Parts: sequence; C-alpha cells; structure tokens
Amino acid sequence: MTPAPQNIAAKLLPWFRRHGRHDLPWQRDPTPYRVWVSEVMLQQTQVATVIPYYERFLRRFPDAQSLASARLDEVLGLWAGLGYYARGRNLHRAAREVVARHGGRLPQTLEALIALPGIGRSTAGAILAIAHGARHPILDGNVKRVLARLFLVREPPDAAGAVLWALAGRCTPAAHVAEYTQAIMDLGATVCMRRQPACGSCPLRRDCAAHAAGLEEELPLRRKQGPRPLRRTHMVFVRSGDRVLMHRRPPQGIWGGLWAPPEFAGARAARRWCAALARDVAPRRLPALRHSFTHFELDISPWLLEVSHQRRLPAPRGERWLAADGRVGVPAPVAKLLAAGLPAGAGAKESANGEDGELRAARPRGRRPRSRAVSRGAGSAHP
Ligand code: SF4
Repeated sequence: MTPAPQNIAAKLLPWFRRHGRHDLPWQRDPTPYRVWVSEVMLQQTQVATVIPYYERFLRRFPDAQSLASARLDEVLGLWAGLGYYARGRNLHRAAREVVARHGGRLPQTLEALIALPGIGRSTAGAILAIAHGARHPILDGNVKRVLARLFLVREPPDAAGAVLWALAGRCTPAAHVAEYTQAIMDLGATVCMRRQPACGSCPLRRDCAAHAAGLEEELPLRRKQGPRPLRRTHMVFVRSGDRVLMHRRPPQGIWGGLWAPPEFAGARAARRWCAALARDVAPRRLPALRHSFTHFELDISPWLLEVSHQRRLPAPRGERWLAADGRVGVPAPVAKLLAAGLPAGAGAKESANGEDGELRAARPRGRRPRSRAVSRGAGSAHP
C-alpha cells in the first residue's frame, strides 16, 4: 500500500489549521527576506533554539540592505551559538549580492535564488512557496523523513534524492502552497519525529506505508557510520590584563571567520612560540577539553601565558588583543576555556586596530558539536 500523493495535502491542511504552529516569528509577515533567514537558521537546528537568534538577528538586520552593509564580525557575533557558521557567512555574502544585483530584493525565480551563496533548491523552494505562494516543493530533513515513511522509501535519503524530490513535487498542491509547505514541515517536526513518531495522532496514518508495515521507527534508513577520528590541537591563550590575543580563523573550514587563540600541532611548538613571545614567563597548562564535531573529535590542550603588557607581535595571522565587550564570535570550546581558565568576561575590544569586538560563545547546534573536559594526556581515540 502506498498513498496517492495528490491526496496528501487534503488530509494535511485541516490538521495543520487545527493543530499546527501558527505563531512562529517567521510566520508573521512572511516576506521573502524573513523566510530566507528563518530557513537558513532552521537548517539542522531546532525551532526552539532558532527563535531567540532569529528575533535578535531580525531586530538588527530587518532587511537585506542592513545585513549587506554590516561587518561580517557583527553578523557572526549574532550567529554565535547557532553553529554551522558557513550559514551566517553565506547569508552575509548573499545579502551583498542581493543588494548589488537585485536592487535589495530577493529574486523570484528558483534559478536566481539558487545562484545566491548558501541557497539550495529546498531553501529556494521554501522562499517561493511561503513568501509568494508559488508551487515549488521543498525537501528539508523533516520532509525527507515524512516522505520516506509515507512512501516506504528504503534507501537512505542522500541516496534517494531524486525519488524524494519527485514525491515532494507530486505531493505539493497547486493551491494553498504556503500553508501546505509549513504543514508538512510541522508534521515532521512535531508528529513524525525521528524517534518515536506519534503515529496515533498523525493525519496521514491511514495512508502511511511505513506505519502499515510497522517500519516507521526503521525509516528513513541511516548510513552506517564508523567511529569518529580523533584530532589534537594546542591552543595558547596569551593574556595581558583583560585582553587576550586572538586571530580570526580563515573563512573556510571549522569555525570559519570566528576568533580563536593561536594553535599548534604539538606541545613543543606551543612552548617554542611562547618563549619567542615572552622569554621571562613560562606558559601554564590548563585542563584539557574534548570537543565533538559531526565527523571527528578534537582534543584541545590549552595553555595560558600571562604577560605584563601587550607585546608587539609579528602577527603573521593578524593576531589582535581583544577585550570583552564587543561583537565578534568565538568557538564554543574557546568560550568555555575563557570562562573556566581566564578572568570572567575576558574578551574583546580590539586595542591594536580600533575595531570593536566581543568574544561570544559560539555554541553549535543541530547535530550538536559538544565539549567536555578530559583528563590531561587523555589521548585515546574514544569519543
Ligand atoms: S503514520 Fe507515523 S510514520 Fe507515518 S507519516 Fe504519520 S507519524 Fe510518520
């Protein structure tokens, strides 16, 4: 038994009108810009987590113009804690393109939207469907799960992309597209959850092939993952009074665009660098920390080097002395180490270059990277 795709909306919409969420901040005044920001923030991130970030972000950047004219530091500072920082960087780049090439308004075709940084087919579809009522399917994680179960798709979603997109297209109705789009996302988020789907209160349970086969908990299939590899790094926190030496990480890669202390592959390199900076003081080791990313574990060995004044630096990576009241983001484990091993509030008004900045915890979400203390020297590959 598989359901008829054209009948899905007719069952879903009455349920959504009665039981769905209608008071989410991005549902009020769903302009293309507001829908865009919400869709980007909601990628791999829970609604409850996104709401305060979204409201702060929209207060500061109510439109593409204000976002485009902001400094990246400020954008990442407001993003700090949401994780997956490429999303914030792309949003900023895309806003600049929207202003430069589209007069400050998001384009209204799928192709032009997808040409912007960080906007994929599903995000573009959501903008067109929700903000313009145009018939475009979406396929975010929630929708993939609902469709895989409804239609008993027995391949992992990343291998079944074409099948799921075709199903998404056939299920999307010609009328009430905006409402349907929100409804199917809502069903995935609140009823057809990843674990323990609430099939008893699902409006589609009579149509659902996975439910009929008793396979709702098994689908969608997940790719088998091996143990995550372990990486190590040594971070040197150089402190002078209430200022800490930081550099901005390259835009690509982990923690791209965030501020972090100098890093070294080994203890000897860290010591040598400290000695070159301040011969008269020895660096002190702080308790180690393990941070989990989606694809690997990172053991961080932190060092604290106290110096009496802000030394002149070769600054090969643009290091700066930062103090704690500005608006730039730092990775979550760096924030945790600052809070644990350095004076409360250490962080960032830049002294050398005159730009204001702040060290704010960047606590990743979604499949959340997380940090925990490890005993010194814990170098095993156990997660
Ligand atoms: S019946 Fe269960 S598995 Fe099927 S769509 Fe509804 S909640 Fe999901």
